[in-house]
Amino acid sequence: MSDCLFCKIVEGKIPARKVYEDERVFAFEDINPQAPTHVLIVPKQHIEGLNKATEQDAGILGYCQLVAAKIGRERGIEDGYRTVYNVGARAGQSVFHLHLHLIGGRDLSWPPG
Ligand code: AMP
Ligand code: ZN
Repeated sequence: MSDCLFCKIVEGKIPARKVYEDERVFAFEDINPQAPTHVLIVPKQHIEGLNKATEQDAGILGYCQLVAAKIGRERGIEDGYRTVYNVGARAGQSVFHLHLHLIGGRDLSWPPG
């Protein structure tokens, strides 16, 4: 997707503070962090959002969660973090390339806003 912000970050065309990368995913610091740890885990393949994912995407969806858990372990925030997909505009999705938010390092309230 030539006009997709996160495709451009994955391709290195737009700079980002990389946290982790392998052949399937790219993880980087959120530019507007909502907590001491706020990392975005992005599949390298372009999927618009969870509502557009198919059974073929099950593997990458689970893998994003495992990468989040690994980063959470490395950051020492296993006493409390959250992984979140914002799905659709009403839930606050603003970038339509699927990304998993990893948020932690502070107390997190429930229910979310
Ligand atoms: P969402 O609102 O769930 O679609 O999340 C998009 C996230 O991307 C927001 O938390 C933004 O702060 C973040 N974001 C937008 N542009 C960039 C960028 N260039 N680098 C890093 N994070 C970004
Ligand atoms: Zn994309």
